[in-house]
Amino acid sequence: MLDAGGPARSGRDFGGIVECAPLRVVRPASAEEVADAVRTAAAQGAEVVPRGMGHSTYGQSLTRGVSLDMRGLTGVEVGQGQAVAAAGATWREVLAATLPLGLTPPVLTDHLDMTVGGTLSAGGVGGTSHVHGTQADNVRALDVVVDGEPVTCSPAVRPALFDAVRGGLGRHGVITAATLRLVPASERVLSCTIPCRDAADVLRVQRETRADHISAQVKPVETGWAYEVKAVLYGDGHEPPAGTSETEELPYAAFCDRMRPDVEKLIALGEWARPHPWGMVFLPMSRAAAVIEATLAAMTPGDLGLSGVILIKALRIGRVPMPAAPDAPVLFSVLRTASPGCASVPEMLAANRALLALARAEGGTRYAVDSVPE
Ligand SMILES: Cc1cc2nc3c(=O)[nH]c(=O)nc-3n(C[C@H](O)[C@H](O)[C@H](O)COP(=O)(O)OP(=O)(O)OC[C@H]3O[C@@H](n4cnc5c(N)ncnc54)[C@H](O)[C@@H]3O)c2cc1C
Repeated sequence: MLDAGGPARSGRDFGGIVECAPLRVVRPASAEEVADAVRTAAAQGAEVVPRGMGHSTYGQSLTRGVSLDMRGLTGVEVGQGQAVAAAGATWREVLAATLPLGLTPPVLTDHLDMTVGGTLSAGGVGGTSHVHGTQADNVRALDVVVDGEPVTCSPAVRPALFDAVRGGLGRHGVITAATLRLVPASERVLSCTIPCRDAADVLRVQRETRADHISAQVKPVETGWAYEVKAVLYGDGHEPPAGTSETEELPYAAFCDRMRPDVEKLIALGEWARPHPWGMVFLPMSRAAAVIEATLAAMTPGDLGLSGVILIKALRIGRVPMPAAPDAPVLFSVLRTASPGCASVPEMLAANRALLALARAEGGTRYAVDSVPE
């Protein structure tokens, strides 16, 4: 086990808003080393916080105590219809192990460079969540360190722990490995762009369009905001759905990694390193269009930042592992970047607080990896 003895990894996260240097960084390489680190920290009265890629946005993976760098636990073993992934493996590493065997996790996040343990501790919503639920819904079993002891949990064994750890932000135990459900992967996909009038139209298209993967983006234009759904059909020989304005055929692997060129551009521009005050709320379907429209009516492009992104995703099934989350919610994400000449970080945080208050008043809740000071 590598004990770096100081803040070897940065005391910042992707949000870049909360700064917090750890007392010590420990990089365990096995579940036993995680258990040792947890017991040692407990004996010293120090807090222990696991950290994956640190892509949460308001200090969720940071601590002034012991930071457990989970990237020391990697490796993915693929078996019959499932994979056992170490918690520090990224979804890119999971996909690299499963795709050569024609298999894929049913739900992937838009960005692949985040850890299995990190997104399961958040929930993990993807474009296929209207069919398969969250990533946390597609886990068969977890290895977890609780109170310094390694245990396993699943729907049949320690079900209360299994439920608490998924979406638990590391507060109920440290995930060391996950048994992930796999499904057959298509070789190619057809991605179809469907322009929409407004938020209600986006939700109607997401409800009525038969697609394997479906998502929506809202972009600033001269006249206000433009709404667009991307409906993606897996396999060959599909007719584009009604309302399609553009299509693109691409290999499944390239589709899964579609954010990479944009990420490279944002890194080169310096935007990736700027603060990211992200507002993310789960809304009840019946109130989602009203909340989204009201939020956008009060927003300018400067409130979003130069590389900010607005996403709408109706999950349609299941429950997300967040306290007080509505059934089959809509995830509304206002992913702000505090770019030069745009709204300031405090202004963006205040806007996130207002969005969360509005969401709660309408029966919604936050996505806990967001940036909302409470
Ligand atoms: C560019 C980008 C794109 C994103 N896209 C999506 C998306 O499509 N869908 C989506 O749902 N989310 C998305 N997110 C949010 C993302 O799911 C969360 O921020 C997730 O937590 C990131 O994983 P990580 O490895 O960086 O975790 P970290 O940020 O390091 O950790 C997140 C939380 O989990 C805890 N934790 C980490 N590892 C473990 C572990 N092994 N055991 C227990 N607790 C642990 C941490 O203490 C912290 O509380 C995105 C974020 C970014 C920056």
